[in-house]
Amino acid sequence: MGNCSKPPRVVLLGKQGAGKGTQAARLADHYGTVHLSTGDLFRAQAAQGTAFGLEAKRYMDSGDLVPDEIVMGVIEECLAPGGPLDDGFVLDGFPRTVPQAIDLDRVLGARPLDLVIDLEVPKEIVLDRIAGRRVCENCQTVYHVNMPPSHNWTCDKCGGNVRQRDDDTEEAVERRLELYERETVPIIDYYREQGLVIMVDGFGNGDEVFERLVKVIDDRMQA
Ligand code: AMP
Repeated sequence: MGNCSKPPRVVLLGKQGAGKGTQAARLADHYGTVHLSTGDLFRAQAAQGTAFGLEAKRYMDSGDLVPDEIVMGVIEECLAPGGPLDDGFVLDGFPRTVPQAIDLDRVLGARPLDLVIDLEVPKEIVLDRIAGRRVCENCQTVYHVNMPPSHNWTCDKCGGNVRQRDDDTEEAVERRLELYERETVPIIDYYREQGLVIMVDGFGNGDEVFERLVKVIDDRMQA
């Protein structure tokens, strides 16, 4: 478990395509804690065809945000004391609006966040990454057309089918980036007032970015 004596409680923010999903999974593994991606959770529900999943998919496919009440209804239980996220977590794609951030603080209560990382990547780069992004529909591992799985678009980790996400169309991506600026960027100010935000440069190869992330988390946890 890294250099930290207790697993960190981290929120990872960043535009679509900033590499949050990949890095959040690596960080959770490194610190022996839980990676919670609301997008992965919603996609899994949609694939299973649950009522909630099908409703969420309508918003997701058009690039819109799933309404706050629905999101909180689904994840409040995981975040509550005694739940699976009691021993730290890396949140990826949540919170995405200021009301969600306020609600998260309420649910966490006396076990507040340790830090909020803003993974910064320029828009031209995220557009290129999203255009080439391919995802395992079973375990959500992320690939790129330039770095495909080793065998015929079959996931190296689980053997699942690797394909383009339904919401990685040009229009939906534009909409998601617009909503990121409008709804998610204000969260950075909200957390900055609490002294929690650290900006990390997300440009470069995955290993370099991972090392930067581990360094800021270890520094914060040892402070
Ligand atoms: P992501 O995998 O994080 O890019 O999320 C995919 C889609 O799921 C988003 O474009 C939203 O439609 C929906 N979504 C994921 N997380 C949230 C959230 N915290 N609040 C609202 N919608 C969300």
